[in-house]
Amino acid sequence: MAGTNQRQTVDRRVNTSEGHYVRWEISVRDLHLLRSWHFVKNYRTFCKTSPTSWDFKMWFPEVREDGTASLSVSLTRIDSVNVDLEASIWVDIDNLEENLIFPKQSFTKGGMAPGSEMQETVEIVPLPNMRAAIHQNVIVLVTLTISSCHSSE
Ligand SMILES: [Zn+2]
Repeated sequence: MAGTNQRQTVDRRVNTSEGHYVRWEISVRDLHLLRSWHFVKNYRTFCKTSPTSWDFKMWFPEVREDGTASLSVSLTRIDSVNVDLEASIWVDIDNLEENLIFPKQSFTKGGMAPGSEMQETVEIVPLPNMRAAIHQNVIVLVTLTISSCHSSE
């Protein structure tokens, strides 16, 4: 377990009555050191009605000394199944005691056809008294939900 930026990812996949979600839990040593960091994942829903496939990417274009940061997410649909879907992304950034370091972030886009892309960049500011936490162990929790693929009919 050597290395300053050693990280682990835990995947949890769940199917619900209306869609599918996956949760990624990424542990990083120091957010401030990760300015060139990219987290990249592919997610396939294996839906029985409309199986879809997605490329997800998350990165921090900037993490400043005062703890403020830019967070970017991008999601691209890469299958060709003829159905429009809704995708949501939630991002929580916690310390090891499960306290939020930044306010929870969420992004949603509907009508995502094959080839559609969602891309967002937001400025995030640490919660009160959490500025120093970005220099310690940080857990980034990402939940990606794909819905309306099999809810009716
Ligand atoms: Zn489905």
